[in-house]
Amino acid sequence: MAFPQSFLDELAARNDILDVVGSYVSLQPKGGSYWGCCPFHNEKTPSFHVLPDRQYYHCFGCKKGGGVINFIMEIENLSYPDAVRFLAKRANIPVPEDRESDGADRLRRRLLDLNRDAARYYYDILQKPEGAAVQAYLDRRQIRRGVATRFGMGAAQDGWDYLLRAMTAKGYTKQELLKAGLIVENKKGGFYDKFRNRLILPVVDVRGDVVGFGSRVIDKSEPKYMNTSETPVYSKRRVLYGLNLAKKTKRPNIILCEGNLDVVTLHQAGFDNAVASMGTALTVEQTRLLSRYTKELVLCYDNDNAGQLATQRALDILKNSEFNVRVLQLPRRLVDGQYIKQDADDFIKFQGPQAFENLLSGSENGIEFRMAQVAGKFDLTKDDDRIAYADEISQVLSTLQNAVEREVYTVRAAETAGLTPEALRSEVERACKRRRYKEKKAQIRRELNPSATLQPERRELRYANLRSALAEEGILRLMMRDDDLLDGISLQPEEFSSPVLGKIYALLSADRAAGRRHSMDALAGELSPEEMSHFVDILQKPESVSGAKQALEDYMRIIREESSRRSGEENIDPLLAAKDKFKFKKGYGGKNP
Ligand code: ZN
Repeated sequence: MAFPQSFLDELAARNDILDVVGSYVSLQPKGGSYWGCCPFHNEKTPSFHVLPDRQYYHCFGCKKGGGVINFIMEIENLSYPDAVRFLAKRANIPVPEDRESDGADRLRRRLLDLNRDAARYYYDILQKPEGAAVQAYLDRRQIRRGVATRFGMGAAQDGWDYLLRAMTAKGYTKQELLKAGLIVENKKGGFYDKFRNRLILPVVDVRGDVVGFGSRVIDKSEPKYMNTSETPVYSKRRVLYGLNLAKKTKRPNIILCEGNLDVVTLHQAGFDNAVASMGTALTVEQTRLLSRYTKELVLCYDNDNAGQLATQRALDILKNSEFNVRVLQLPRRLVDGQYIKQDADDFIKFQGPQAFENLLSGSENGIEFRMAQVAGKFDLTKDDDRIAYADEISQVLSTLQNAVEREVYTVRAAETAGLTPEALRSEVERACKRRRYKEKKAQIRRELNPSATLQPERRELRYANLRSALAEEGILRLMMRDDDLLDGISLQPEEFSSPVLGKIYALLSADRAAGRRHSMDALAGELSPEEMSHFVDILQKPESVSGAKQALEDYMRIIREESSRRSGEENIDPLLAAKDKFKFKKGYGGKNP
């Protein structure tokens, strides 16, 4: 996908990377660049920086990086052409006629229209006699009509192609229905409705578009819950069910619960700040979305093992975030002498909204949740258990960075187990020392084994020949600094050992040959976001400016040595050998002048 260079240049000139990134991240100048907390991973101390003169951003934490277009692709979840359109709109400049990007954009709009019409269709069915079975189910769950309407609930009938026929009659094609995930293709090439005999819960994003659907069976069949799979307009990592309504709440926080119907029940009971992640553990993308609306999250997952695990995972994701996180523990319910698990829906039904309000105001913060979890594992009336508890709780307490916090919770944990604070304090101190020692050892290990840190973090980008690849990285750095250095040098992309570095070299060489300056924004159209991030990460490494000529010679020598060694080893690696033979046939074999 290529836009004209002149257009990309104007796009970059009118969308200064500092302005664009600055509208999402608060940046502080330091040295030649601008620093802020990375919007792509949770952190409290900035490792994200923007280099305005070189027109890219980079994060030392999660290693993401690229030009202004990459930034928009990542933060707005857009494809390259859509990110270009987004920036063109922002700067109010027309996009040159480009059929492919028009196509992608048109498809998105078309699928959103289709989803809206499908939602309306399901909604209408629910109001008619054909929706009686689903309505009866809603009555059983005590979900009121007004609430069902607020969530746009609908009914899918018990049949193979009700929706398919209704939507094709409206002019949508089977391909469009398939792309929206509303129908499924069978082995014989026929199509049938994905959602049948189900309660339908449209998923509406914060802009008000119907992006996908959740559903639940109304009888005992399986699967109980079924959601839209990934489509061009729906990514489960990036939506939260109910956020379109919860974003308007007057409550100070947002409650994160497990299921769509928990969200519905909570809203009905007056907790209009409830949302749910759909079929996924909480993701960084979702926390970013939430951060626009609140600084306080309340985790309210089921009180079974899966729910506790989900809570633990969410706490891990939120550990270094700006959020104030609390955990609301739903008590188990006594039925016929047995304690059974209950979800938010059960709790509200049996104990009422006021009881939930009380739980909400008394909900624990993350560390309290972890402490309660540890305490729950032991019988603290027994000496053995108290010793084991002291050991385990000190591990938990040692993770607290703040000394005052550590002291407060150490005293509390000591009380819980009937220990003296002094005794536990020294245990915690020992655990802290052990932790610091371990971290230091890991650090030393990393320093002693540099080759591990020199490899790209992403597996698919790993180097087969580290020595050559590091020299190849150096060539790319030098090219970005000063293209003229490479005048009169004949290095072919095929001589590179790393396919991705060879690809970048070929792109930069093409710029050179055409007399174009290198543009991050043009590269963004040719490289995947992962490749782009890796490239920007390479540019962070130091490079000698004064000794550039010598460095270039060294890099060339290493690449050639390794390249000829590879062709000498042909018989050892059959795959590599096959590749080399292929190159030779194509006339790329001239590695040994
Ligand atoms: Zn980051």
